Amino acid sequence: MGLTAYAVCKNYGETRALYDVDLAVNKGEFFTLLGPSGCGKTTLLRIVAGLEMADNGRIVINGKDFTKIPANRRPVNTVFQSYAMFPHLTVLENVCFGLISRRIPKAQAIEKARATLDLVRLAGFEDRKPDQLSGGQRQRVALARALANEPEILLLDEPMSALDAKLRVQVQVELRQIQQRLDKTFIMVTHDQQEALTVSDRMAVMGQGQVAQYGSVREVYDRPRNRFVADFLQTQNFLDAERVGPREISTRLGRWRLCEDIPWEKGCITVRPEKLQIAREASACDFRARVNTVIYRGCYQQFILDNGLLMETETVLPVAQGEELMVHVPKDAVIVLHEDEFQRMDLRKVK
Ligand code: ATP
Repeated sequence: MGLTAYAVCKNYGETRALYDVDLAVNKGEFFTLLGPSGCGKTTLLRIVAGLEMADNGRIVINGKDFTKIPANRRPVNTVFQSYAMFPHLTVLENVCFGLISRRIPKAQAIEKARATLDLVRLAGFEDRKPDQLSGGQRQRVALARALANEPEILLLDEPMSALDAKLRVQVQVELRQIQQRLDKTFIMVTHDQQEALTVSDRMAVMGQGQVAQYGSVREVYDRPRNRFVADFLQTQNFLDAERVGPREISTRLGRWRLCEDIPWEKGCITVRPEKLQIAREASACDFRARVNTVIYRGCYQQFILDNGLLMETETVLPVAQGEELMVHVPKDAVIVLHEDEFQRMDLRKVK
């Protein structure tokens, strides 16, 4: 149960916005559609909401086919980028509005609206107008308004884009807490990978109208499947490599052992900066490099090495510019990137 999208296609004239997208979102999870501008994530969200019709494909929610059912009869609610609140109505009236227009008796609507405002920690703000609220509070009113309708699935289209960086981080955590308290299915669209990692159980990284990879945020972050996903997650340290054994590669920096099989003869790998280690003994040294730049980041430190690699250490070590380091490359530091630009995957099974 949850949401399943089968082979969804959408073209806008010549523009192919979505190409054969399959997706399965489990009930009660926080799922994020992550990708660069124009990759089709909003289009997919709008198709799930019924605000846009797919050219092909099906949308199934909790086992029922909603593909042809209009937006107002789908068990979903959307929180948009612009919160679209009525400026002349109070917070309470804004939250009540949808309930009353669904013919819920006024007293019951008020009770529901108050309970939902309480849930998003806005009790006491009922009589304020939207312009008397902070950005974060307005965001929570928009959330309350959508949640008051008790949708099976809440859709969030870049809900934090209007907030400044500091508030964003705070609201991300709040959003995650509200989702967990309610145990509801949330599907969010964002282009901010940090935001996706903070709030989501699972995510789909999209590019060019397709899903490039999907999985738990950990899986995708730790093991980006191809160059596109790795690039988008701001992985650094890409190297060309040649396979010299089942789990051994040769790069311009030497031969390294890996913890996974290598599907190509020649290809690309990436090495996480934080996984590289300073070797204490020559026997553990996989390559030597001089430190070109030391970047102090407060609680951690980065070195740009003369071979072009970036290295990151958790603690601030007394390493000086110009110093030569012996570097150890642990087996799990190397990620083999698959050549398929976007691997077609079977995303149809809900856990
Ligand atoms: P952003 O992060 O910038 O909102 P997105 O990933 O959400 O981008 P979509 O809005 O889904 O991307 O758009 C996907 C593609 O479809 C883009 O190339 C866009 O220009 C195009 N597109 C979207 N809506 C329309 C429309 N109504 N008419 C024509 N083309 C459209």
